[in-house]
Amino acid sequence: MTTTITPAITIAIDGYSSSGKSSMAKALAKKIGYRYIDSGAMYRAVTLYAMQHSMISAGHEVDCDALIAALPLIKIDFKVCEDGQHTLLNGVDVESKIRQLDVSNNVSQVAVIPAIRHALVAMQQAFGTEKGIVMDGRDIGTTVFPDAELKIFVNASAETRAMRRHKELIEKGESSTYEDVLANVVTRDHIDETRQESPLRKAQDAILLDNSKMTIAEQDSWLIDRYNEAISKLK
Ligand code: C5P
Repeated sequence: MTTTITPAITIAIDGYSSSGKSSMAKALAKKIGYRYIDSGAMYRAVTLYAMQHSMISAGHEVDCDALIAALPLIKIDFKVCEDGQHTLLNGVDVESKIRQLDVSNNVSQVAVIPAIRHALVAMQQAFGTEKGIVMDGRDIGTTVFPDAELKIFVNASAETRAMRRHKELIEKGESSTYEDVLANVVTRDHIDETRQESPLRKAQDAILLDNSKMTIAEQDSWLIDRYNEAISKLK
């Protein structure tokens, strides 16, 4: 009897802030038994470190030299918990802290710093050396894994994304307003798209998904179909 072994591939899911890419990526990874890495959580953890060490001013100015010098002291890890994957910053679970709006309001300013990007991209590439990974972010298909076998780029209107994010924050007990969340989404999109170093872009060979009018079940099943297509091309 011959058995066909399904080859392990690399899956890159990029897109705009709060486009639902992390939920899709997580669901796919679970379904196909792949490792999931949230690259945005890594930028958020570095941002939280900078905030905790007074390296970011109230006007969102980052002390780049101090943060770059501190890079060797920042260790980021992931831990699988009952309610999903949690981010660890120097061994401390910071999962809920890094999702708060104050971190969201500073993270894109940290993510423009080339030396920070280089360090995090190297860590992300190390996570993916054995394939069998789903990673979501802004530059995964263009910079981190340009050879990924499956690339998806997710978008939805800024209002739809802000509405979803606002609902999530309210469910977690945060008191942010819809207007604050929308402003954050629009500002982050702008900084992410216009930065010099690996700006947010759709890779040429990425499949575009506008999920504005899709339910979560519909987008999850759309993604599984794309995965099956990518695998069947390799067989
Ligand atoms: O994905 P999430 O919204 O949590 O990402 C937070 C921020 O981290 C983004 O707005 C972006 O500035 C930065 N980021 C990035 N490159 C990635 C992932 C996230 O610049 N690959």
